[in-house]
Amino acid sequence: MPLLYHWVGKNYRRDLDWGAGYHLNQSNRLLHEIDIGDSLWAFTSTTKGTYVLAVQLVVRAKTRNASGFRYGPFRLWGDLKRSRYFRTEGQPDISVLIRRLSVKSNASVVGRSFQGHAAVRRLTAADHQLLMDYARYIPLEPRARLLPEERLEARILLGDSDAVSRLIRSEAPGIADERRRYLFEKAPQRNPEHVNELRKLYGGVCQLCGWNPRSQYRRDLCEAHHVHWLSRGGDDELHNMVLICPNHHRAIHRTDAPFDWADMSFVFPRNRQVVQISRHALQAK
Ligand SMILES: [Zn+2]
Ligand SMILES: [Zn+2]
Repeated sequence: MPLLYHWVGKNYRRDLDWGAGYHLNQSNRLLHEIDIGDSLWAFTSTTKGTYVLAVQLVVRAKTRNASGFRYGPFRLWGDLKRSRYFRTEGQPDISVLIRRLSVKSNASVVGRSFQGHAAVRRLTAADHQLLMDYARYIPLEPRARLLPEERLEARILLGDSDAVSRLIRSEAPGIADERRRYLFEKAPQRNPEHVNELRKLYGGVCQLCGWNPRSQYRRDLCEAHHVHWLSRGGDDELHNMVLICPNHHRAIHRTDAPFDWADMSFVFPRNRQVVQISRHALQAK
C-alpha cells in the first residue's frame, strides 16, 4: 500500500541542506503499514507557498526510534537506488493533482488538510500510478546525490581535509554548501579524536561481535562507523558513532543496513544484529 506524506517545507529544506537522509519519521503508525518495496510519495511547500512533489521513497526498511524522539517513533528508509528527490525549483503547483487523488483534502490550501497525524495518508494503486505519470518529467534534485560513504569516512578519519574536498568535488558537484562546509572544516578536525576515544572506551573491540584485534594482533583494527551516515546528514559526534570490525563495517555499507534505535540493532537483509557491547549512548537524528 503506497502512502502520501506532507513534508513540512522547512524540514524538507533542512534535510536537503544537511545531506539528503533518504528516510522519514512520523508519529502516526500508519507510516509502518506500508509494505517493503512500496512507495511513499512526499510533497512539500516552497518558500513561495506553492506545493510541489518532493520525494518518492521506495521503502526498504521500517524501524523505530528511541522513545521520546522528537519526530515520532516510526521511521521509513528509502532504497538508495530506487528512491528519488525531485527538483522543486520550477515545478508547477501539485495541489490540483492531490485533489484528484482518493485522499480527502478539502481545505482551501491543500497543506492544511495534512496537518499533524493527517500528514500521512493511504494511497490506492491508481493514485500511485497518477503520481508515477506526473513525476515522469520532473528533473531530479542534484543536491540529493550521495557521496561514497566509506571513502568519505576513511578520508575524514585521516584528518585530511584536502582529500575530503577532492572527494566531494569529484563525486557530488551538487552537494549543499552548508554540508560541504561542515565536511570540509569541522568533521576532519574532530574525527581522529573521536576514534581514539571509542577505542579507549571499548578496548579496541568490535561492539557488534566482540572481535579483539589488540589481543590477537596487538593492533587497533576496529573502525569508527557513523550510524547516521555523514553524507546523509549524520553528525561527527560520539553519540552517532560505533566501533566495529572491518568485516561488519563493510557489511553495513554494502547492504546500507539501517539502524533501529528501539532495539539498538543493525538491520541486515537476512537478520538483525544487536550492538552487544554498549558503553556510550547513541542518539537518533
Ligand atoms: Zn564485528
Ligand atoms: Zn561507516
